Amino acid sequence: MIMKILKDIKNLIAGMGITGKHLGRHAITIQYPEQKWEMPERSRGIVVLLSDKESGELNCTGCLLCMKACPSAAIFVDAPRDPETKKRNLISFTVDNGLCCFCGLCEEACNFSAIKLATMYEFSEPEREGFIWDMKKLQEVGIDVDYIDTRKKKPVKKVVNPAAAPNPTVDKPATEKPTAEKSPEEVKPAAPPVEPDKPKEDGA
Ligand code: SF4
Ligand code: SF4
Repeated sequence: MIMKILKDIKNLIAGMGITGKHLGRHAITIQYPEQKWEMPERSRGIVVLLSDKESGELNCTGCLLCMKACPSAAIFVDAPRDPETKKRNLISFTVDNGLCCFCGLCEEACNFSAIKLATMYEFSEPEREGFIWDMKKLQEVGIDVDYIDTRKKKPVKKVVNPAAAPNPTVDKPATEKPTAEKSPEEVKPAAPPVEPDKPKEDGA
């Protein structure tokens, strides 16, 4: 009995010693959910759709590359091609977060800075259906997500004031072709015509 009490006291002192050792140290846990981890920029959290910072419109062109790249079949894009313009019309974009394995292949496949694995990691749901996010929700969650826009934007056309003097660097005469587009005949002088070989008189 006495031995058992002594053993308990020894264990108690050992436990107090470990607690005392960590008292002055920096805490390695946080008070979740009041406190949250700030995830590194390149961490793979939830998949979101990105929007143009100026217009607020989705960057997605409906090219389907992300859907084809996804190994989990978590992405479904409905974007039929217009028979006249041959361009795709984005009708719906769905991501099933219950299937997503956060591999990042969709982000790698996209050429239009339109999809990204954001740093957000909280999306638990009580029902399975809650993990399926439609285009509206994907855009809403991704609207403030920072990204590097790698799209090649077309330059905005300047409205030319007719009263202003023509700018030779911009307004070139329609008849003048740039040097690079001129054909070799226009650049080089024409070669003299080649006379046909005369038949030899000795018949050799
Ligand atoms: S992160 Fe991977 S699994 Fe998830 S949607 Fe993108 S390609 Fe599919
Ligand atoms: S997110 Fe990117 S890869 Fe996927 S359909 Fe849109 S433009 Fe294409």
